Amino acid sequence: MKKTLAILFMCVLCLVGCGKSNSIENVSANLNTYTLEIDYNKDHTLNVKQTVNYKNTTGQSLENIKFCLYPTAFKDGAKNAPVSPTNINKAYPNGLSYGGIQINKLNVAGKEVTPAYEGDDDYVLVVKFDESLKNNNSATIEMEYVVTLPNVNHRFGYGNNTINIANFYPIIGMWENGEFVCTPYNYNGDPFYSDVANYNVTINAPKEYKIATTGKIVSQNENNDLINYQINAKAVRDFAFVLSDKFEVLTEDVNGVQISYFYYDDEDPNKSFDTAKKAVTLFSDMFGKYPYETFNVVQTNFVHGGMEFPNLVYISDEVDNHNDYLNVIIHETAHQWWYGLVGSNAYNYGWLDEGLTEFSTLMFYEEYSDYGINTDDMIKNTTNSYVTFVDLMEDVVGKADTTMNRNLSEYDTESEYVYMSYIKGMLFYNNLREIVGEDKFVESLKQYVKDYSFKVATPEDMIKSFEKVCKMELENLLNSWINGNVVIKNVA
Ligand SMILES: [Zn+2]
Repeated sequence: MKKTLAILFMCVLCLVGCGKSNSIENVSANLNTYTLEIDYNKDHTLNVKQTVNYKNTTGQSLENIKFCLYPTAFKDGAKNAPVSPTNINKAYPNGLSYGGIQINKLNVAGKEVTPAYEGDDDYVLVVKFDESLKNNNSATIEMEYVVTLPNVNHRFGYGNNTINIANFYPIIGMWENGEFVCTPYNYNGDPFYSDVANYNVTINAPKEYKIATTGKIVSQNENNDLINYQINAKAVRDFAFVLSDKFEVLTEDVNGVQISYFYYDDEDPNKSFDTAKKAVTLFSDMFGKYPYETFNVVQTNFVHGGMEFPNLVYISDEVDNHNDYLNVIIHETAHQWWYGLVGSNAYNYGWLDEGLTEFSTLMFYEEYSDYGINTDDMIKNTTNSYVTFVDLMEDVVGKADTTMNRNLSEYDTESEYVYMSYIKGMLFYNNLREIVGEDKFVESLKQYVKDYSFKVATPEDMIKSFEKVCKMELENLLNSWINGNVVIKNVA
């Protein structure tokens, strides 16, 4: 996600790319598949039939499987509400509004079972197996449910211009340390953590709506008042789409990727579109080729600056300054590598992808000096802004917690999360580049992508990719940053 701030240097192209074994076709052959049949209704509800073909590759027998239900955060009285108190008016311009999900039918291997729930707001759906599911065996889980979208400018909700349909379906929790992990909603950051999977999706919507979606539209047909889309997405971490009857669309094939820009209110749409194309091209050169066939940049009603989903990013129509708007496009595009390709637990390690995404944005400006961003100034201003924040915390609260290894619920305020994840996170990657040098830095990022594409990485995994390339011990540096031991001073 993009919350605040803009950011820095020169790219060096290396020759280490994604290996062939990491191709979408190879990866997708072994993944779980979600089949979604979605009817979008004009009253802002969705009727969904979902079938998941789940293969147990956990290495153990399973008594149940758990799905995360993010829409539960949007119901009235939710404990883990999606909007911070300071953003209520901006998120709900038409007054408070609620939504959610109602599971009406659940079948496992053709047999009806009763859904069970756990966690705050019942945000985890527990599907029990009749007989334990042995390792390497598969199960088919079918469900029917109704999703109600709230009137909110958020990842999930409808606004005056767009209908944002993300984090709307039950998604399998990440298998980790012998259990399914569902990260709870939290307004401080992006509370998502999921594995890559395949998606076959059918969407029926009123035909006046255009769609921007994860994956590729393989067919579309009009039938009376409806339009039917068949969509395919392979090896993606999530599935999201946006509907609008206001969209204008720019689209172009760039090195085999169909890049599109969906917008309704942009003073310079060509510049926005051009920025997206440049970002995909540059980051493909620097980090490893963007492996998917589509990438959609989508202007939306959204309370924050932007949000990343696989093959699709939201850019808020409330970002007034066009240079800031372009900055959000660059930031969200970089997330296609740092979140999309290389996954991470954004609930526990918000800084890991946000810091690198901010630093990638700076690298974009280093390459494209015509954007007029002086990246030395960017680092200087970022550093000084960080020092000011820490000083202020010490003055007001008596002490500043500058650790970064906190989960989203452990940050007292949204601004504390932003400073530790985006700003300090970016300064960490800047320091890392100063230490290893520009060439090794870029080579290490390529290695990181190669090592963890379609997988998930921890901070330790990230630093191991750097150590492998740089032949240096870097874990102490990492620890001193995340444990809050590094002293950051004003830059003149
Ligand atoms: Zn972000």
